[in-house]
Formats: sequence, C-alpha cells, structure tokens
Amino acid sequence: MLLVRDGREPPRGIDNPMRLVFLGPPGVGKGTQAEGLALQLEIPHISTGAILRDALGRGTTTGLEAKKFMDAGDLVPDAVVLKLVEDRFAEQDAASGWLLDGYPRNLEQGAALDDLLSTLQLTLDHVVFFECDSAELVRRLGGRRVCRKCGNTFHIEFAPPPLQGTCSQGGECEIYQRSDDSEDAILKRLDVYQRETGPLVEHFRSQARLIVVDGGQSIDQVGVDLQGALGLPK
Ligand code: AMP
Repeated sequence: MLLVRDGREPPRGIDNPMRLVFLGPPGVGKGTQAEGLALQLEIPHISTGAILRDALGRGTTTGLEAKKFMDAGDLVPDAVVLKLVEDRFAEQDAASGWLLDGYPRNLEQGAALDDLLSTLQLTLDHVVFFECDSAELVRRLGGRRVCRKCGNTFHIEFAPPPLQGTCSQGGECEIYQRSDDSEDAILKRLDVYQRETGPLVEHFRSQARLIVVDGGQSIDQVGVDLQGALGLPK
C-alpha cells in the first residue's frame, strides 16, 4: 500500500487502486455493504450475479445460457463467469480498483482469479469474509424483494418497500421476488455455498488476506465493523 510522506495514505483512485473481494453466503448482505463501500472508495462494484441478471434481462446469449443454472440455484459454468470478469476488468473504470462481489465462488474460480491477477500484474488488498448462520440467511432470503428497475433491495418484514409493489411514486418500478429466492432455490444455494464456496475461505486464509466480519448483525453494525476492519474512517 502506498504511503505519502506524512504517513497518510493518498486518496484512492487511479494511482492507488483498492482491490477487494467480498466472500460469504447468499443473503449475508455482501451486496448491500459492497454498494456503499464501492461508492465511498469510488471504485466499481462488480457483482457477477448482477452482471448475469442484466445479461438475462437483455436476452443475451450468455444470459440465456445462464438462466437454467441461476433459476435452479446452481453455479453458472466457470468459463462463462470468468469471461465476464475478464471483460469487466478490461473496462476503463476498473483501472481505479474494484470490489468483486460473488466471484470467486469455488476453488477453481479462486485459482482462475489468482492466474488472472498474476497475468495483469495486480494484487488483492483484502478478501472480506462475511459469516452468518443458516437460519438467519433463510429468513433474510425468503423475505427479500428487489426493484426490477432500480435494483433496490427490500425485505417484506424488516425493510418493506415504501409503496405497495413499487419503490417510486411514478409506478415505473416493480418489486419482485428473484426466482432464485424461492424456498427450494434458497436451500440449494446454501448447499452449493457450503460445498463449493466454503473451501475458498481456507484458500484465502492460507494466503493471509482474509478479514472476517460478523454478517449476522444489523446492516449499520456490519458497516461499522467493515470500516474498522479495513482501517477506514467510521
Ligand atoms: P448472486 O446475486 O451473487 O446471489 O448470484 C445469483 C446467481 O448467479 C447464483 O446463484 C449463480 O447461479 C450465478 N452466479 C453469480 N456469480 C457466480 C459465480 N461466480 N460463479 C457461478 N455462478 C455465479
């Protein structure tokens, strides 16, 4: 990490890019925290799930290819997702760093990311692992609702949308439940997470890059802990 002469870090940006990976089970709140932190650090929030949902919404070949895996709560084939990440890293705004959310998702993807970073001569600053027990994750995912237009996330119990079925007065928005937030898909995704993504925690721990944050707390408290763990001002 670069330090300026008085010992303070220079501002984040093209000369001092921050590269982060967020790791954790579905429903732990990675996306919510990633959104805020990426804005604060002025780096792009790269969510492979969001890129895939966008591709699906636009009816691209990749989106249509991914649909059956996503609907079932399965992982999309590694090669498809790696290509998306490679392409996204090549975009101009990624030169100022990035926050990768939802990738890597298994050991093969972890190795592919290591290779890609080494080819690009880049290093990761931190891998943040959000942990949370399964009962809480099921509760959160089952009540999750998303706005199709804005991407805003709500929860029918804890954070209901301000208006019935929409989050805007104009009614252009539409609150819906992601098809992979159905009960069957939730259980499948948690199972896939345990089997496939869990081992990545050790992969990164052995590289001494891991920061662990308790994702079972309120959004605000997780945010405070995250800032503290990354050494950022609260
Ligand atoms: P997420 O929004 O991160 O929960 O991702 C939603 C779905 O997109 C997942 O259940 C997978 O089907 C797919 N997906 C997202 N990221 C990946 C990835 N890194 N590898 C494989 N599939 C992914």
